[in-house]
Amino acid sequence: MKHSLDILPLSSWIDTGDKPLVIAGPCSAETEEQVVSTAHLLANTGKVHVLRAGIWKPRTRPGEFEGIGSVGLEWLKRAKAETGLPTATEVATAKHVEEALAAGVDVLWIGARSTANPFTVQEIADALQGVDVPVIVKNPVNPDLSLWIGALERVNRAGIKKLAAIHRGFSSFEKTAFRNEPMWDIAIQLKTIAPELPIINDPSHICGNRELLPYISQKALDMDMQGLIIESHIDPAVAWTDAKQQLTPGALADMLSNIAVRQAESNNPAFEDKLSELRQNIDKLDNDIIKMIGDRMKIAEKIGEYKRDNNVTILQVNRWDEIVQKRVQLAKALNIGEDFAVKYLELLHNESIRKQNEVMNSKTIAEA
Ligand code: PEP
Ligand code: MN
Repeated sequence: MKHSLDILPLSSWIDTGDKPLVIAGPCSAETEEQVVSTAHLLANTGKVHVLRAGIWKPRTRPGEFEGIGSVGLEWLKRAKAETGLPTATEVATAKHVEEALAAGVDVLWIGARSTANPFTVQEIADALQGVDVPVIVKNPVNPDLSLWIGALERVNRAGIKKLAAIHRGFSSFEKTAFRNEPMWDIAIQLKTIAPELPIINDPSHICGNRELLPYISQKALDMDMQGLIIESHIDPAVAWTDAKQQLTPGALADMLSNIAVRQAESNNPAFEDKLSELRQNIDKLDNDIIKMIGDRMKIAEKIGEYKRDNNVTILQVNRWDEIVQKRVQLAKALNIGEDFAVKYLELLHNESIRKQNEVMNSKTIAEA
C-alpha cells in the first residue's frame, strides 16, 4: 500500500529531549478544579509533556456523560497558564476545531469513532485548512489500516504536516483481557508504510484497566513507538468516564519510572556485529522454513492426486487430530507457545487443503 504523506518530525512541535513523548490527563474535563489540580500534579512529576482532556466525548450510548463542552476550554487555558503544559483535546466537528483553536489548544486529536468516518474526517480537515497545529489521528475503531491512512492523508492534504498517529487498539468480536485488541501488526504495517510518521501508543484505551498498563506501555516502547498518551485523573474512582483505566498522577509517575527506554539503534560496533550475525542466522532459518513448507505442499499435492484417483474425501478428521496433538506436544516440549503452534498448524492445514482441492478438481490426464 502506498501513501502520500508529507510529515514533519515530532521534534518540530514538541521538545521531549531524548525521552518518549508523554501526553497525560483525564479522560474527560469534569470540573475546573479537577482539570487544574490534575494538571499541577502531572506537571510536578516532570515526566509529562502535554496535558490531555476530553471536552466533547463521543459516547456509545446517549445519556452517558457527553463532555462538559466549550466551558472546559477555559479550564484548559487556565491549566496551561499555571503549569506551562501545552494542551490537547479531541475534535469531532468543524465547530470543535474552531472553538479549540480559538481557545489556544495546542494539539488536536481525532478520535477512533471519527477516524472510522471519512465524512467526519473530511469536515475536520476542511476546518484545518491553512492552520498550523499538530494533529494526532487515532486508529479507527475497526481494524482497517486503509481507513487510518486515509484519515491521515485527508488531514495532511489540508496542509497539516505536524502529524502523528495514535494506536489505541481495535474493537474485536472475540472478548479478551483487553478493552480494545492491540493488533500490533496493524500499527507495525503503518510504521512500515510510513516510517517517518510518529506513532504514539494509547495503553489506556487498549487495556481498559489499570493493571495491564505497564505491560502495554513497555511493549509499545519496545516496538519503537515514539510516545504514550495515558489517562490520568486526580481521583480515578470517581471519574465520570473511563474510571477503571485512569491512574492518579503519582501512580503514572511510578509506572513511567519503571519503564525501560531502549534505543532503536546502538552505536557499539561489537554489538552491531553480533546482531548482524544473529540476523543472518534468522534469515537462513526463515529461508529454510519457507523451502520446507514448499516441500510439504508438494507432498500434500501428491496426496491430493492419490485421493482424487481413489475417490476419497480431502478432509480426514482423525488424521488431522493426530497431527495437531503430536505437533503441539513437540512444540510445547521446545518451549513454543501452544496458541502459536495451533494457529500455525491451522494455517498450514488450510493451505494444504486449498492445494489438494485444486488438484482434486483438476481432471486427470485420462479424463481430459
Ligand atoms: C479518549 O481518548 O478519551 C477517547 C474517547 O478515545 P478513543 O477515541 O480512542 O475511543
Ligand atoms: Mn477515555
